[in-house]
Amino acid sequence: MTRSWQEWLVRQISFAGDFDKEILEAFLRVPREVFSEFHYDLDVVYSDNVIVTAKDGNIYSTSSQPSLMALFMSAVGLRQGMKVLEIGSGTGYNACVMAHVVGKEGLVVGIEFNRKFFENSVEAASKLGIENVVFVNDDGFYGYEKLAPYDAIVITVAVDKVSQHWIDQLKMGGRIVGPIDLYTVDRQPALVFEKTIDGVAAKHLVDTKFIRAGGLLGNLNETNLERLSKIEKRFSTPFEFLNLPINYYETVGVFHLASWSLCEKSGWIYFVEDEGFARWKGGWEVFGRMELIKRIAEEWARTRFSPMSLVKFRYDHSMNFKRLERWDET
Ligand code: SAH
Repeated sequence: MTRSWQEWLVRQISFAGDFDKEILEAFLRVPREVFSEFHYDLDVVYSDNVIVTAKDGNIYSTSSQPSLMALFMSAVGLRQGMKVLEIGSGTGYNACVMAHVVGKEGLVVGIEFNRKFFENSVEAASKLGIENVVFVNDDGFYGYEKLAPYDAIVITVAVDKVSQHWIDQLKMGGRIVGPIDLYTVDRQPALVFEKTIDGVAAKHLVDTKFIRAGGLLGNLNETNLERLSKIEKRFSTPFEFLNLPINYYETVGVFHLASWSLCEKSGWIYFVEDEGFARWKGGWEVFGRMELIKRIAEEWARTRFSPMSLVKFRYDHSMNFKRLERWDET
């Protein structure tokens, strides 16, 4: 009976993109209603939409839009035999679908911060007899060293930055996909990061809307505010101005993704470095010694100030910024 509902869901996913047979078939094999503590009619469960699956106090877990889950799997090249880490596994639906894609030779490791959602995921997977999935109750920031290295990492919660641990635990040539929370402009572009010999390359995939991460994956604004408070008092007048002929949302997006150094205070956006800071007031006022922001601005000028979606970000293996390229020129 549910089988035909799952076929309907797969038809909707197919309309949204061109996905491998293995990915589509995995959706046929996992009943989505098992992962929700709330009751929905099956036409709701099997529509290509987000559903709220669990609640703990005022914290929620949601099952992402299935076609977006398929897009993420596709973006990391998920296939049989792979070992994949999921950050923000919630009540486990995405992890269990991925478990069918990677098959018996593969493994899914899902990390979930919230104890109750984690318990729901363990219960659902055992009820369905899915054995190649391991759930861990921890902050996703740490990844999961014990079962590393991973072929791919799929992030299903909007994070402030890519954790160094994920890069360390990812195989060479492996990919990470996930939404980055640009908290200063309230946008969540999903990016694909690839680990190569000479660093990490990233490009924009699609704009999304996910639950914002808590814990160590959601505290970058506070961390940068703390860095700012250490340096702010040393300067009262700007040394110079940076004029960037482009819309403010794009500038903030590029600066965020290249530096992970932005924060917001009393309506101002700040870019923090160790010896100085810059802040936005119809243009960027620069206080103190700023090297990174200037380097990013120069690099970005070389791309003719292409929008965030058209630039490729390059980092070293510690996620420090190296350079920007237009992705259609490489
Ligand atoms: N992928 C899941 C649900 C994603 S909702 C599914 O298929 O159902 C996002 C989840 O990320 C929530 O359950 C939330 O509790 C969790 N989360 C938030 N911050 C986290 C962190 N720092 N580490 C791990 N999980 C986190």
